[in-house]
Amino acid sequence: MPDINPYIEKIYEARRLLIERNQSDLQKAMVRAYASQIDRVLRLLRSGQLSQDNADRIIREIRTALQNWQSSIGDITKRYSVETIDGVGNIHSRVTKQIGEAFGTEMAFSLQGFRSDAFEAMFERRRLGAVDTFKTLNNWNAHGERAIKGIERVLQEGIEQGRAMSKIQADIARNLSFGNRDIQGLLDSVRGRGTFSLSDLKIGGSETTKTINKLLSDARRIAVTEIDVAYHEGDRIASVRSPIIKALKWQTSGRHDGLYSSPDICDIHEQADLYGLGPGVYYPETIPVKPHPNCGCTRLYVTREVSEWDKPKDAPSRPREATANEINEILQENKHSGSRTITDRYIETTLNQTNTDNQRAFRYYAKQEAA
Ligand SMILES: [Zn+2]
Repeated sequence: MPDINPYIEKIYEARRLLIERNQSDLQKAMVRAYASQIDRVLRLLRSGQLSQDNADRIIREIRTALQNWQSSIGDITKRYSVETIDGVGNIHSRVTKQIGEAFGTEMAFSLQGFRSDAFEAMFERRRLGAVDTFKTLNNWNAHGERAIKGIERVLQEGIEQGRAMSKIQADIARNLSFGNRDIQGLLDSVRGRGTFSLSDLKIGGSETTKTINKLLSDARRIAVTEIDVAYHEGDRIASVRSPIIKALKWQTSGRHDGLYSSPDICDIHEQADLYGLGPGVYYPETIPVKPHPNCGCTRLYVTREVSEWDKPKDAPSRPREATANEINEILQENKHSGSRTITDRYIETTLNQTNTDNQRAFRYYAKQEAA
């Protein structure tokens, strides 16, 4: 009998590459969209004398540019989420076929409706109380306003000194990208038309430096979280469909232990046994959603016996409620990892989230079944 493990390892490896690539591409796409919006504004500043009228227009254009950028984020993110979901489906479909060939047995893994199933589940299950990374983007109005304050000062001085519009390009760009070489590099590459260079901008501390760094960290958090959530849901649907995968075992990420926020709900998802399948083992149908932004937890596959591959799978049972005692125990056991203090209040919050996440995941499954 051939060994199944090398094939499972192939899925893990393909998963790592797909997630890394799409997280990085999504983050770059968001920042690139920002740079091209700013570039549009800067191009208005090519010639003419600065007046109150065109100063007002510039401010209006900057506001529009920031809003355009914000609303483009949803579409950009969706594009990469769909790509991630398609990627998961393809990985499972390919490897399942290879396993079938190696074991000399007919394998059925259908990609029919896979994308829409996973995409819908991603939104529906999230609404059951999961991660909402997009909230961070709403803060952007406030950050943008702070950058605009600086630009208003530049414009006012320009009017008083009778400067040409083209002379304030650099100052405005500085306010919208000041101190960040990634953004400057992007602006350079987006522009690349020889009208203007940002390379001589000085790096310094200011409110706008904070603003742009916030932009980059928001972009990073959204990219990391959304791609991971897309993979999580796609992988879940694939595991439901796979004749080989029996269950999913929650595994905290390698970085998890060192985080100041650890131990947290992820340790519970990894170690609580609410289905009687073993610690952290879930039916693919009912595994909880990602419990917080930047959650890098992943899943290991629990495979079925070869003789079971052509048999129907067990339907998930309802999860039992976790108790305060076991939550406390798991948190205490993992205390060495992070620097969080475990208070009664924290135990209570974690207990609540554990039960809510699990009960909701089950309810979503039950509702699907009934439909
Ligand atoms: Zn996690």
